[in-house]
Amino acid sequence: MRASLLWALSALACASAPGRPPAEADLVLRGGKVFVAAGELSTAVAIRGDRVAAHEAGRMIGPSTRVVDLRGRLVTPGMNDAHCHLGAGGLSMLEVDLRGAASLPEIESRVRASTAKAAAGDWITGRGWDQTRLRPSELGPGGWPTKETLDRASPQHPVYLRRVDGHTGWASSRALQLAGIDARTADPPGGEIVRDARGAPTGILKENAQDLVTRVVPPPWPDKLRRGILAALDLAARTGVTSVQSEVTPAELDIYRALRAERRLTVRIYGWLPLTLEVVRALEQRGVRAASGDPWVRTGLLKAYADGTLGSRTAWMLEPYSDDRSTRGIQRILPAEMDALVLAADRAGLQVAVHAIGDAANRVVLDAIERAAAATGRRGARHRIEHAQVLDAADIPRFARLGAIASMQPTHATSDMRWAEDRIGHARAEEGAYAWRRLLDASARVAFGTDFAVEPLDPVEGLYSAVTRQSREKPGTPPGGWLPSQRLSMEEAISLYTASSAYAEFQEDAKGTLEPGKLADLVVWERDLLTVAPEQILQAKPVLTVVGGRAVFDAGAQR
Ligand SMILES: [Zn+2]
Repeated sequence: MRASLLWALSALACASAPGRPPAEADLVLRGGKVFVAAGELSTAVAIRGDRVAAHEAGRMIGPSTRVVDLRGRLVTPGMNDAHCHLGAGGLSMLEVDLRGAASLPEIESRVRASTAKAAAGDWITGRGWDQTRLRPSELGPGGWPTKETLDRASPQHPVYLRRVDGHTGWASSRALQLAGIDARTADPPGGEIVRDARGAPTGILKENAQDLVTRVVPPPWPDKLRRGILAALDLAARTGVTSVQSEVTPAELDIYRALRAERRLTVRIYGWLPLTLEVVRALEQRGVRAASGDPWVRTGLLKAYADGTLGSRTAWMLEPYSDDRSTRGIQRILPAEMDALVLAADRAGLQVAVHAIGDAANRVVLDAIERAAAATGRRGARHRIEHAQVLDAADIPRFARLGAIASMQPTHATSDMRWAEDRIGHARAEEGAYAWRRLLDASARVAFGTDFAVEPLDPVEGLYSAVTRQSREKPGTPPGGWLPSQRLSMEEAISLYTASSAYAEFQEDAKGTLEPGKLADLVVWERDLLTVAPEQILQAKPVLTVVGGRAVFDAGAQR
């Protein structure tokens, strides 16, 4: 039924028309509600080549125009995920998935299932575990699970599992042994090896301590990386994601370019590389600046980590954690080094994206951006803070003043609200936790994304979270939403996920709205996001995803 709805070619003949239309469209969507931009709706959109041509349909329909009757459905610009890890997320789709696991036996059985498929010498890797979902009685030193669970699940293969946030790792005894970690191993700078009462490692590795293990895990073969990326591209197409701003590795960039040459790339990529002085120099030598490339693959964004995460109590806070007064978290880069990195990138015309979750980390990054601008005089650098999760009230107005973008993930708020106030208390949460409304009120630019694979790539989960600030597992709770003054309208949320994300990558002239001349990246939704009851947002799905005028997902064609 959907097939006939969407791709039924209209038999509208041009024979009766007095001549060919002035400019014939390749694709016309009409009879619906087109979200052109915030505050601007239309009933139709006409596409020629890879661009939006107009909003009046009739005059542009010719003999070879494909006409889709929307039957009242909503069309939005394609979703632009401003922060994700597409390659790693794709790989994790091929790994042990521990998301939602609520007991140690469940984790054990998922790991054991994957050993059955492993070849001799293979590592078992996975991600998505979350100790806040386990019973306190299941946890060992420091409130963390221990290596014994993994040893039982996989006595032969080394096991390494990253926490849902990617900031804490959980290794089996075999993995610790291969990495040479024992009671005598010192904590590396910016990291911690969790130990039992006798000083022996428990298997838990925080922040930079993870490198001790990951450097001995063999890298995925290019073929596996490619399979992971294809899995992620498929997921993006079916969830309405047409652009991503993502971590990339040089190997992944090669794959994206190869897929593009094969016409199999269905998402536009702005890739970030690690922010180090060596990378800044290398990009400078190759003439790469912010947003360099073409409409499909661009680079020039550099990412650093100022701290860890709230879930792991490694986010760098101005004051101690409310549920552990002994710590303020982990500062991953000293302020002087942060200043030097941001300055070097700023001077080279590059854009930086710094991960900062705690209020102290956010302040350090804002300081670095302010000092760089003062030193170079460069304006409009659009440097970004990734997550900007907990802000001191004094720092909120600085985003607009410095032109710094807050790149935020609404699903983090609705995942973390279960325990966020345990970590930081109510007063700090109220003051500036996941405070997109406060940032917007202070004229800051806020772009939305997911942090996939930390959170699902599906944008409706973020739209729902931004609009309700309620649980995705138990919709409707807490009543009215968590810190409800920060809720957005659906129109605002879509706009942050499209137009503002485009701005965050210097592409607001090319995409983010459906104005004529922009890239024809759009989504037809099965239900009207603008009017649907909040608890039904999570069920909304694309029926058609178009990138550059080409259908990359068509629900009708798949049935
Ligand atoms: Zn991330």
